[in-house]
Amino acid sequence: MTETFCILIHYHEIALKGKNRSWFERRLIKNIKLQLFGLPFTKVQLNAARIFCFGIDESMWNDYAQRLRKVMGIKHAILMSQVKSDIDTIQAVAATQLKELEFSSFRVSARRQYKDFHLSSQEINKRVGQHLQSINLKPVKLKNADVDVVIELVKGMAYIGHERVYGFGGLPVKTSEQAVSMISSGIDSPVSSFEMLKRGVELTYVHFHSTPATSRQSIQNVGEILTVLAGYQIQCRVYMVPLLEIQQKIMAEAPNKLWVILFRRAMIKLASIIAEQLDIPALISGESVGQVASQTLSNIRATADAADRPILRPLAGFNKEDIVRIAEKIGTYEISIEPYDDCCSFFVPIHPETKANLEVVRQTEDNIDFGDMFTTALNDATIKTFEHPDYVRNSFTSLEKVND
Ligand code: ATP
Ligand code: MG
Repeated sequence: MTETFCILIHYHEIALKGKNRSWFERRLIKNIKLQLFGLPFTKVQLNAARIFCFGIDESMWNDYAQRLRKVMGIKHAILMSQVKSDIDTIQAVAATQLKELEFSSFRVSARRQYKDFHLSSQEINKRVGQHLQSINLKPVKLKNADVDVVIELVKGMAYIGHERVYGFGGLPVKTSEQAVSMISSGIDSPVSSFEMLKRGVELTYVHFHSTPATSRQSIQNVGEILTVLAGYQIQCRVYMVPLLEIQQKIMAEAPNKLWVILFRRAMIKLASIIAEQLDIPALISGESVGQVASQTLSNIRATADAADRPILRPLAGFNKEDIVRIAEKIGTYEISIEPYDDCCSFFVPIHPETKANLEVVRQTEDNIDFGDMFTTALNDATIKTFEHPDYVRNSFTSLEKVND
Protein backbone atom coordinates (compact mmCIF):
# COMPACT_ATOMS: atom_id res chain seq x y z
CA MET A 1 0.00 0.00 0.00
CA THR A 2 1.46 3.37 -0.95
CA GLU A 3 0.96 5.98 1.71
CA THR A 4 1.38 9.69 1.18
CA PHE A 5 1.02 12.27 3.90
CA CYS A 6 -0.57 15.68 3.76
CA ILE A 7 -2.11 18.21 6.13
CA LEU A 8 -5.83 18.84 5.93
CA ILE A 9 -6.90 22.24 7.18
CA HIS A 10 -10.42 23.29 8.05
CA TYR A 11 -11.52 26.87 8.42
CA HIS A 12 -14.69 27.98 10.07
CA GLU A 13 -15.88 31.54 9.77
CA ILE A 14 -14.78 31.93 6.14
CA ALA A 15 -17.22 29.17 5.28
CA LEU A 16 -20.02 31.55 6.30
CA LYS A 17 -18.91 34.16 3.77
CA GLY A 18 -20.99 34.70 0.68
CA LYS A 19 -19.85 35.90 -2.72
CA ASN A 20 -16.37 36.96 -1.68
CA ARG A 21 -15.50 33.72 0.09
CA SER A 22 -12.84 32.85 -2.50
CA TRP A 23 -11.03 36.11 -1.74
CA PHE A 24 -10.79 35.07 1.94
CA GLU A 25 -9.68 31.58 0.94
CA ARG A 26 -6.92 32.92 -1.27
CA ARG A 27 -5.63 35.12 1.53
CA LEU A 28 -5.73 32.22 3.96
CA ILE A 29 -3.73 30.05 1.55
CA LYS A 30 -1.18 32.81 1.10
CA ASN A 31 -0.88 33.23 4.88
CA ILE A 32 -0.43 29.47 5.31
CA LYS A 33 2.38 29.45 2.73
CA LEU A 34 4.09 32.38 4.43
CA GLN A 35 3.71 30.72 7.81
CA LEU A 36 5.18 27.41 6.59
CA PHE A 37 8.04 29.15 4.83
CA GLY A 38 11.25 27.13 5.23
CA LEU A 39 9.43 23.88 6.01
CA PRO A 40 9.07 21.31 3.24
CA PHE A 41 5.84 21.40 1.20
CA THR A 42 5.07 21.32 -2.50
CA LYS A 43 1.63 22.90 -2.69
CA VAL A 44 -1.15 24.37 -0.61
CA GLN A 45 -4.43 23.86 -2.38
CA LEU A 46 -8.12 24.48 -1.92
CA ASN A 47 -10.28 21.44 -2.40
CA ALA A 48 -13.97 21.20 -1.48
CA ALA A 49 -13.89 23.95 1.17
CA ARG A 50 -10.81 22.43 2.78
CA ILE A 51 -7.18 23.36 2.36
CA PHE A 52 -4.64 20.66 1.69
CA CYS A 53 -0.94 20.99 2.16
CA PHE A 54 0.92 18.42 0.07
CA GLY A 55 4.51 17.26 -0.20
CA ILE A 56 5.24 17.56 3.49
CA ASP A 57 7.69 15.69 5.69
CA GLU A 58 5.43 13.97 8.22
CA SER A 59 8.28 13.44 10.68
CA MET A 60 8.23 17.24 11.18
CA TRP A 61 4.53 17.36 12.11
CA ASN A 62 5.22 19.20 15.37
CA ASP A 63 6.92 22.02 13.49
CA TYR A 64 4.01 22.34 11.06
CA ALA A 65 1.54 22.22 13.96
CA GLN A 66 3.34 24.98 15.90
CA ARG A 67 3.28 27.22 12.84
CA LEU A 68 -0.28 26.49 11.67
CA ARG A 69 -1.62 27.28 15.13
CA LYS A 70 -0.60 30.86 14.41
CA VAL A 71 -2.53 31.28 11.18
CA MET A 72 -5.68 33.20 11.94
CA GLY A 73 -8.76 31.75 10.26
CA ILE A 74 -7.80 28.12 10.82
CA LYS A 75 -10.15 25.99 12.89
CA HIS A 76 -7.89 22.97 12.96
CA ALA A 77 -5.27 21.10 10.94
CA ILE A 78 -4.80 17.33 10.87
CA LEU A 79 -1.87 15.23 9.70
CA MET A 80 -3.42 12.81 7.22
CA SER A 81 -2.48 9.68 5.32
CA GLN A 82 -3.85 9.96 1.81
CA VAL A 83 -5.01 6.63 0.34
CA LYS A 84 -7.51 5.38 -2.21
CA SER A 85 -11.06 5.41 -0.93
CA ASP A 86 -11.55 1.77 -0.31
CA ILE A 87 -12.93 0.63 3.02
CA ASP A 88 -10.37 -2.16 3.52
CA THR A 89 -7.50 0.22 2.89
CA ILE A 90 -9.04 2.80 5.23
CA GLN A 91 -9.38 0.20 7.99
CA ALA A 92 -5.84 -1.03 7.51
CA VAL A 93 -4.34 2.48 7.66
CA ALA A 94 -6.38 3.42 10.72
CA ALA A 95 -5.27 0.20 12.44
CA THR A 96 -1.60 0.90 11.63
CA GLN A 97 -1.88 4.41 13.02
CA LEU A 98 -3.45 3.22 16.26
CA LYS A 99 -0.87 0.46 16.71
CA GLU A 100 1.76 3.09 17.42
CA LEU A 101 -0.26 4.80 20.17
CA GLU A 102 -0.98 4.24 23.83
CA PHE A 103 -4.60 5.02 24.63
CA SER A 104 -7.52 3.72 26.63
CA SER A 105 -10.46 4.84 24.49
CA PHE A 106 -11.04 5.97 20.93
CA ARG A 107 -13.65 7.14 18.46
CA VAL A 108 -13.92 7.39 14.71
CA SER A 109 -15.17 10.60 13.07
CA ALA A 110 -15.88 10.17 9.38
CA ARG A 111 -16.97 12.90 6.96
CA ARG A 112 -17.91 12.42 3.36
CA GLN A 113 -17.57 15.16 0.80
CA TYR A 114 -17.53 12.41 -1.79
CA LYS A 115 -21.13 11.32 -1.62
CA ASP A 116 -20.72 8.56 -4.24
CA PHE A 117 -18.92 6.41 -1.71
CA HIS A 118 -21.03 3.36 -0.99
CA LEU A 119 -21.08 3.84 2.80
CA SER A 120 -22.52 6.77 4.73
CA SER A 121 -20.38 8.55 7.35
CA GLN A 122 -22.22 6.70 10.07
CA GLU A 123 -21.59 3.36 8.40
CA ILE A 124 -17.89 4.15 8.02
CA ASN A 125 -17.70 5.05 11.71
CA LYS A 126 -19.29 1.76 12.60
CA ARG A 127 -17.26 -0.43 10.24
CA VAL A 128 -13.91 1.11 11.07
CA GLY A 129 -14.77 1.35 14.78
CA GLN A 130 -15.63 -2.34 14.99
CA HIS A 131 -12.51 -3.27 13.10
CA LEU A 132 -10.27 -1.21 15.38
CA GLN A 133 -11.99 -2.52 18.48
CA SER A 134 -11.47 -6.11 17.39
CA ILE A 135 -7.73 -5.42 17.14
CA ASN A 136 -7.15 -3.16 20.12
CA LEU A 137 -9.82 -4.35 22.52
CA LYS A 138 -10.30 -0.75 23.65
CA PRO A 139 -13.71 0.87 24.19
CA VAL A 140 -15.25 3.45 21.89
CA LYS A 141 -16.06 6.67 23.73
CA LEU A 142 -17.92 9.34 21.83
CA LYS A 143 -17.10 12.12 24.31
CA ASN A 144 -13.51 12.85 25.36
CA ALA A 145 -11.96 9.81 23.74
CA ASP A 146 -8.16 9.62 24.02
CA VAL A 147 -7.82 9.26 20.26
CA ASP A 148 -10.12 10.59 17.57
CA VAL A 149 -9.51 8.82 14.27
CA VAL A 150 -10.58 11.30 11.61
CA ILE A 151 -11.55 9.96 8.20
CA GLU A 152 -12.43 12.31 5.37
CA LEU A 153 -13.51 11.31 1.91
CA VAL A 154 -12.78 14.08 -0.55
CA LYS A 155 -13.00 13.88 -4.34
CA GLY A 156 -12.41 10.17 -4.63
CA MET A 157 -9.60 9.95 -2.06
CA ALA A 158 -9.59 9.01 1.60
CA TYR A 159 -7.67 10.83 4.33
CA ILE A 160 -7.03 9.26 7.72
CA GLY A 161 -5.35 10.87 10.71
CA HIS A 162 -5.47 11.42 14.45
CA GLU A 163 -2.94 14.20 15.13
CA ARG A 164 -4.67 17.51 15.20
CA VAL A 165 -3.79 21.06 16.14
CA TYR A 166 -6.42 23.69 16.88
CA GLY A 167 -6.08 27.21 15.55
CA PHE A 168 -7.70 30.32 16.99
CA GLY A 169 -10.36 30.58 14.27
CA GLY A 170 -11.35 34.07 13.20
CA LEU A 171 -10.30 35.59 9.89
CA PRO A 172 -6.99 35.62 8.00
CA VAL A 173 -4.77 38.60 8.77
CA LYS A 174 -5.05 41.24 6.03
CA THR A 175 -8.71 40.56 5.27
CA SER A 176 -10.01 43.30 7.62
CA GLU A 177 -8.00 46.42 6.73
CA GLN A 178 -5.47 47.93 9.13
CA ALA A 179 -5.26 49.49 12.59
CA VAL A 180 -2.61 51.18 14.73
CA SER A 181 -2.27 49.32 18.02
CA MET A 182 -0.98 51.22 21.03
CA ILE A 183 1.26 48.73 22.73
CA SER A 184 2.97 48.88 26.11
CA SER A 185 4.97 46.03 27.56
CA GLY A 186 2.13 45.27 29.99
CA ILE A 187 -0.13 42.22 29.86
CA ASP A 188 -3.17 43.79 28.22
CA SER A 189 -2.17 45.52 25.00
CA PRO A 190 -0.39 42.46 23.51
CA VAL A 191 -3.64 40.54 24.09
CA SER A 192 -5.82 43.31 22.63
CA SER A 193 -3.53 43.32 19.58
CA PHE A 194 -3.86 39.56 19.28
CA GLU A 195 -7.66 39.78 19.47
CA MET A 196 -7.67 42.17 16.52
CA LEU A 197 -5.20 40.06 14.51
CA LYS A 198 -7.70 37.26 15.08
CA ARG A 199 -10.36 39.36 13.37
CA GLY A 200 -8.13 39.67 10.32
CA VAL A 201 -6.82 43.18 11.05
CA GLU A 202 -3.26 43.95 9.98
CA LEU A 203 -1.52 45.90 12.73
CA THR A 204 1.10 48.60 12.86
CA TYR A 205 2.20 49.31 16.41
CA VAL A 206 3.08 52.42 18.34
CA HIS A 207 4.95 52.41 21.63
CA PHE A 208 5.63 55.50 23.73
CA HIS A 209 8.70 55.57 25.93
CA SER A 210 10.17 58.02 28.41
CA THR A 211 13.88 57.44 28.00
CA PRO A 212 16.21 58.64 29.36
CA ALA A 213 14.03 59.20 32.48
CA THR A 214 13.14 55.51 32.40
CA SER A 215 15.41 52.66 31.39
CA ARG A 216 15.23 51.22 27.89
CA GLN A 217 13.72 48.06 29.36
CA SER A 218 10.19 48.82 28.12
CA ILE A 219 11.56 49.22 24.57
CA GLN A 220 13.41 45.93 24.90
CA ASN A 221 10.31 44.14 26.28
CA VAL A 222 8.05 45.57 23.58
CA GLY A 223 10.55 44.32 20.99
CA GLU A 224 10.32 40.82 22.43
CA ILE A 225 6.51 40.99 22.51
CA LEU A 226 6.42 42.15 18.90
CA THR A 227 8.62 39.27 17.81
CA VAL A 228 6.00 36.95 19.31
CA LEU A 229 3.12 38.88 17.70
CA ALA A 230 4.94 38.92 14.34
CA GLY A 231 4.52 35.16 14.46
CA TYR A 232 0.80 35.76 13.80
CA GLN A 233 1.21 38.32 11.04
CA ILE A 234 4.65 37.34 9.63
CA GLN A 235 6.01 40.85 9.79
CA CYS A 236 5.06 44.03 11.62
CA ARG A 237 6.28 47.56 12.10
CA VAL A 238 6.45 49.64 15.26
CA TYR A 239 6.87 53.35 15.82
CA MET A 240 8.84 53.93 19.04
CA VAL A 241 7.90 57.47 20.01
CA PRO A 242 9.66 59.53 22.72
CA LEU A 243 7.07 61.01 25.08
CA LEU A 244 9.25 62.45 27.83
CA GLU A 245 9.29 66.09 26.69
CA ILE A 246 5.49 66.18 26.42
CA GLN A 247 5.09 64.44 29.78
CA GLN A 248 7.41 66.92 31.48
CA LYS A 249 5.43 69.79 30.03
CA ILE A 250 2.17 68.28 31.32
CA MET A 251 3.70 67.68 34.75
CA ALA A 252 4.91 71.27 34.90
CA GLU A 253 1.58 72.81 33.95
CA ALA A 254 -1.33 70.55 34.91
CA PRO A 255 -2.64 69.43 38.32
CA ASN A 256 -1.12 66.07 39.05
CA LYS A 257 -4.42 64.22 39.24
CA LEU A 258 -4.89 64.89 35.51
CA TRP A 259 -1.41 63.80 34.44
CA VAL A 260 -2.29 60.26 33.37
CA ILE A 261 -5.32 61.40 31.40
CA LEU A 262 -3.29 64.07 29.63
CA PHE A 263 -0.49 61.59 28.90
CA ARG A 264 -3.07 59.26 27.36
CA ARG A 265 -4.57 62.07 25.29
CA ALA A 266 -1.10 62.90 24.00
CA MET A 267 -0.54 59.25 23.09
CA ILE A 268 -3.86 59.07 21.29
CA LYS A 269 -3.17 62.29 19.37
CA LEU A 270 0.24 61.04 18.28
CA ALA A 271 -1.17 57.64 17.31
CA SER A 272 -3.92 59.38 15.33
CA ILE A 273 -1.37 61.43 13.40
CA ILE A 274 0.58 58.26 12.55
CA ALA A 275 -2.65 56.56 11.49
CA GLU A 276 -3.55 59.54 9.32
CA GLN A 277 -0.14 59.50 7.63
CA LEU A 278 -0.51 55.79 6.92
CA ASP A 279 -4.17 56.09 5.91
CA ILE A 280 -5.20 53.66 8.65
CA PRO A 281 -8.80 54.03 9.88
CA ALA A 282 -8.70 52.86 13.52
CA LEU A 283 -6.67 52.66 16.73
CA ILE A 284 -6.52 49.75 19.20
CA SER A 285 -6.04 50.00 22.96
CA GLY A 286 -5.82 47.40 25.72
CA GLU A 287 -8.15 49.11 28.20
CA SER A 288 -10.52 46.98 30.21
CA VAL A 289 -13.36 48.77 31.99
CA GLY A 290 -12.66 49.29 35.69
CA GLN A 291 -9.43 47.30 35.70
CA VAL A 292 -7.45 50.21 37.12
CA ALA A 293 -8.44 53.64 38.38
CA SER A 294 -7.59 55.25 35.06
CA GLN A 295 -9.95 53.00 33.11
CA THR A 296 -13.31 54.22 34.31
CA LEU A 297 -15.90 55.06 31.68
CA SER A 298 -15.56 58.80 32.40
CA ASN A 299 -11.81 58.57 31.92
CA ILE A 300 -12.21 56.57 28.76
CA ARG A 301 -14.49 59.31 27.47
CA ALA A 302 -12.00 62.01 28.49
CA THR A 303 -9.15 60.26 26.68
CA ALA A 304 -11.07 59.01 23.61
CA ASP A 305 -12.07 62.61 22.95
CA ALA A 306 -8.49 63.23 21.75
CA ALA A 307 -8.88 60.74 18.90
CA ASP A 308 -9.95 61.62 15.38
CA ARG A 309 -10.92 58.03 14.56
CA PRO A 310 -12.42 55.07 16.41
CA ILE A 311 -10.43 53.42 19.18
CA LEU A 312 -11.28 49.74 19.42
CA ARG A 313 -10.93 48.18 22.88
CA PRO A 314 -11.24 44.46 22.39
CA LEU A 315 -10.64 43.78 26.10
CA ALA A 316 -13.24 46.25 27.38
CA GLY A 317 -15.37 43.47 28.83
CA PHE A 318 -12.69 40.91 29.67
CA ASN A 319 -11.79 39.84 33.19
CA LYS A 320 -8.12 40.04 34.13
CA GLU A 321 -7.81 36.28 34.57
CA ASP A 322 -9.14 35.74 31.04
CA ILE A 323 -6.62 38.23 29.67
CA VAL A 324 -3.81 36.46 31.51
CA ARG A 325 -4.93 33.09 30.16
CA ILE A 326 -4.83 34.38 26.58
CA ALA A 327 -1.46 36.06 27.16
CA GLU A 328 -0.10 32.68 28.31
CA LYS A 329 -1.58 30.89 25.31
CA ILE A 330 -0.19 33.31 22.74
CA GLY A 331 3.25 33.51 24.35
CA THR A 332 3.42 37.12 25.58
CA TYR A 333 2.73 36.64 29.30
CA GLU A 334 6.26 35.70 30.36
CA ILE A 335 7.64 38.81 28.65
CA SER A 336 4.94 41.11 30.03
CA ILE A 337 5.67 40.19 33.64
CA GLU A 338 9.33 41.15 33.27
CA PRO A 339 9.96 44.31 35.28
CA TYR A 340 10.04 47.62 33.42
CA ASP A 341 9.33 51.29 34.11
CA ASP A 342 6.30 52.15 32.10
CA CYS A 343 6.15 55.68 30.76
CA CYS A 344 2.97 56.28 32.75
CA SER A 345 3.42 54.25 35.90
CA PHE A 346 6.74 56.02 36.40
CA PHE A 347 5.01 59.37 36.82
CA VAL A 348 1.75 58.26 38.36
CA PRO A 349 0.42 60.69 40.95
CA ILE A 350 -0.78 59.36 44.29
CA HIS A 351 -4.40 60.33 43.67
CA PRO A 352 -5.15 60.10 39.96
CA GLU A 353 -8.50 61.32 38.66
CA THR A 354 -11.03 58.50 38.43
CA LYS A 355 -13.99 60.47 37.14
CA ALA A 356 -12.58 63.02 34.79
CA ASN A 357 -14.68 65.95 33.68
CA LEU A 358 -14.19 66.30 29.96
CA GLU A 359 -14.54 70.09 29.92
CA VAL A 360 -11.96 70.51 32.68
CA VAL A 361 -9.58 68.15 30.88
CA ARG A 362 -10.00 70.00 27.58
CA GLN A 363 -9.47 73.40 29.21
CA THR A 364 -6.40 72.26 31.09
CA GLU A 365 -4.94 70.88 27.89
CA ASP A 366 -5.78 74.03 25.91
CA ASN A 367 -3.85 76.10 28.42
CA ILE A 368 -0.66 74.13 27.84
CA ASP A 369 1.51 75.48 25.04
CA PHE A 370 3.07 72.35 23.54
CA GLY A 371 4.71 74.34 20.72
CA ASP A 372 6.00 71.87 18.18
CA MET A 373 6.55 69.09 20.72
CA PHE A 374 4.20 66.72 18.90
CA THR A 375 5.98 67.20 15.59
CA THR A 376 9.35 66.77 17.29
CA ALA A 377 8.22 63.56 19.02
CA LEU A 378 7.14 62.11 15.67
CA ASN A 379 10.29 63.26 13.91
CA ASP A 380 12.35 61.60 16.63
CA ALA A 381 10.38 58.35 16.48
CA THR A 382 12.26 55.28 15.35
CA ILE A 383 10.54 52.78 13.10
CA LYS A 384 11.50 49.15 13.48
CA THR A 385 10.40 46.02 11.66
CA PHE A 386 9.90 42.71 13.43
CA GLU A 387 9.77 39.43 11.59
CA HIS A 388 8.28 36.03 12.39
CA PRO A 389 10.51 34.39 15.04
CA ASP A 390 11.14 31.34 12.83
CA TYR A 391 12.24 33.59 9.98
CA VAL A 392 14.65 35.30 12.35
CA ARG A 393 15.93 31.97 13.70
CA ASN A 394 16.56 30.70 10.19
CA SER A 395 17.87 33.99 8.78
CA PHE A 396 15.19 34.23 6.10
CA THR A 397 15.10 37.75 4.86
CA SER A 398 12.79 37.83 1.90
CA LEU A 399 9.03 37.68 2.23
CA GLU A 400 8.69 37.52 -1.52
CA LYS A 401 9.61 33.87 -1.89
CA VAL A 402 6.06 32.62 -1.72
CA ASN A 403 4.03 32.73 -4.90
CA ASP A 404 0.34 33.46 -4.70
P1 ATP B 1 -1.27 47.34 29.41
O1 ATP B 1 -1.18 46.07 30.18
O2 ATP B 1 -1.63 47.16 27.97
O3 ATP B 1 -0.08 48.23 29.61
P2 ATP B 1 -2.66 48.66 31.49
O4 ATP B 1 -3.67 47.83 32.20
O5 ATP B 1 -1.33 48.86 32.09
O6 ATP B 1 -2.52 48.10 30.00
P3 ATP B 1 -2.85 51.46 31.09
O7 ATP B 1 -1.46 51.66 31.53
O8 ATP B 1 -3.94 52.29 31.67
O9 ATP B 1 -3.38 50.02 31.24
O10 ATP B 1 -2.90 51.64 29.51
C1 ATP B 1 -4.10 51.52 28.80
C2 ATP B 1 -3.78 51.33 27.33
O11 ATP B 1 -3.06 52.46 26.82
C3 ATP B 1 -2.83 50.15 27.07
O12 ATP B 1 -3.52 48.92 27.02
C4 ATP B 1 -2.23 50.54 25.76
O13 ATP B 1 -3.11 50.25 24.69
C5 ATP B 1 -2.07 52.03 25.91
N1 ATP B 1 -0.73 52.34 26.46
C6 ATP B 1 -0.38 52.46 27.74
N2 ATP B 1 0.95 52.71 27.85
C7 ATP B 1 1.43 52.77 26.59
C8 ATP B 1 2.71 52.99 26.02
N3 ATP B 1 3.78 53.22 26.77
N4 ATP B 1 2.83 52.96 24.68
C9 ATP B 1 1.75 52.70 23.89
N5 ATP B 1 0.53 52.50 24.38
C10 ATP B 1 0.35 52.52 25.71
MG1 MG C 1 0.43 49.47 31.21
